[in-house]
Amino acid sequence: MGELTTFPVSYKVEGQRIVIVGGGEEALNKARLAIKTTALVVIISRTFEVDFSGLPVTLLPRGFEPADLVGAALVFVADHGPDGAAAKVAARAAKIPLNVVDVPEECDFYTPAIIDRAPITIAVASEGDAPVLARLIRARIEAALSPNLGAMARLAGSMRDKVAALLQGPRARRYYEELVTSPEVEAELIRGQGMPKAEALLAQHVENGESPGVVWLIGAGPGAEDLLTLRAQRLLQEADVIVHDHLVPAAAVEMGRRDAERILVGKQKGHHSFTQAEINGLIVRLAKQGKRVARLKGGDPMVFGRAGEEIDALNAAGIAYHVVPGVTAALAAAADTATPVTLRKISTGFVLATAHGAESEELRHWAALASAGLTLALYMGKSVAGQTAARLIAEGAGADIPVGVVVRAGRRDRVLYRGTLGSLASGDAALEDGPAIIFVGEAIAHGDWSGAIEIARSQFKVA
Ligand code: SAH
Repeated sequence: MGELTTFPVSYKVEGQRIVIVGGGEEALNKARLAIKTTALVVIISRTFEVDFSGLPVTLLPRGFEPADLVGAALVFVADHGPDGAAAKVAARAAKIPLNVVDVPEECDFYTPAIIDRAPITIAVASEGDAPVLARLIRARIEAALSPNLGAMARLAGSMRDKVAALLQGPRARRYYEELVTSPEVEAELIRGQGMPKAEALLAQHVENGESPGVVWLIGAGPGAEDLLTLRAQRLLQEADVIVHDHLVPAAAVEMGRRDAERILVGKQKGHHSFTQAEINGLIVRLAKQGKRVARLKGGDPMVFGRAGEEIDALNAAGIAYHVVPGVTAALAAAADTATPVTLRKISTGFVLATAHGAESEELRHWAALASAGLTLALYMGKSVAGQTAARLIAEGAGADIPVGVVVRAGRRDRVLYRGTLGSLASGDAALEDGPAIIFVGEAIAHGDWSGAIEIARSQFKVA
């Protein structure tokens, strides 16, 4: 399954030696890494070409001797002469992990780029392939993390016994989450008052008692994980259980905590799925158990997401909820095709509608809107695309109004079609599998539909 040829571990070196053979720049670089640990760092070289003074290391100005490896946890060889060669032989004989600087094929291990917020360490490794890239990634992560992260982690560690005595399970986790992310705690920590603040927060959590459950109705966007909002991502991390639909990208579902429960409730055409009443009952029941429920929906939860029914059920049960918006499919489709759905002098409005089960009266209304220049985005209309187009024309829409269809909008494997209401109406559209948005309106002609398949009459069988 895996593709890594190395296994990242945190290796104990306390009370042992890290031996570096060599006295040049390369040895100095390894020494800088090694002194981040509590190991005794020993540097052996007949000559020292760079200045090691000021580093907490032991310098042995002589040749390498096999006895130098007694008690050694790791060996670095940064010497290209006989001392380096002898050290390699000795390390291998003693089975001590060896790193030969810049000779990957001779290394037992590589050194990752390290972000040091002791006790938190983040290592970025490339199996020796791209150390420069690893360092760039490190710089980005470095910039994103508070310098106080390590101190926050130590503070959390020092609270462990007290917390264990007072809070269990999810309640303890919630306490720690608040503790390590609270700007107030961080500010107090800097002033040396971290511990009293952490204790006050603990008392507050104990007093608040069992926290009631909550439901977050979260929009997951159209299917690309980087179209998820930062808020959605944060709440997914906090959720105890994630209740999601089929259209939600797997990567978004995976963003939750590893131990969060995940429940797939449907809805894929033709597959068994939960009924809406069952979903309503499920989220109410989970929240009543005190869980934090992420109800994750494709696109935006308030657009054809049946959020209204779920909200009614939550209100009836007296359960708190919050709505987190997402990128709805029509907007992802507009972005994919650079289509300005509103456009000065062309389209003064944008209508999200469902073609499914639309009444004649609604169709007449949309026909009038499309003829007046407004842009229609039709959801759930693919299987009735041709029929809907024909009915719009019958209700008075011009057969030459531009039409554009985006299947799997927002995803890498999207497919585009373009034509007119007339060409779409002339047959059962043989559109690709997958969810689709059908745009109708003059603004479509102002988008960039390059690569789109033309909906020509000949490609579609006449209904
Ligand atoms: N809440 C969702 C809509 C759910 S209804 C949203 O805001 O996007 C399901 C319909 O949405 C599908 O039939 C299809 O018309 C549309 N849809 C959902 N995801 C889509 C996608 N990635 N590309 C195109 N259409 C999509």
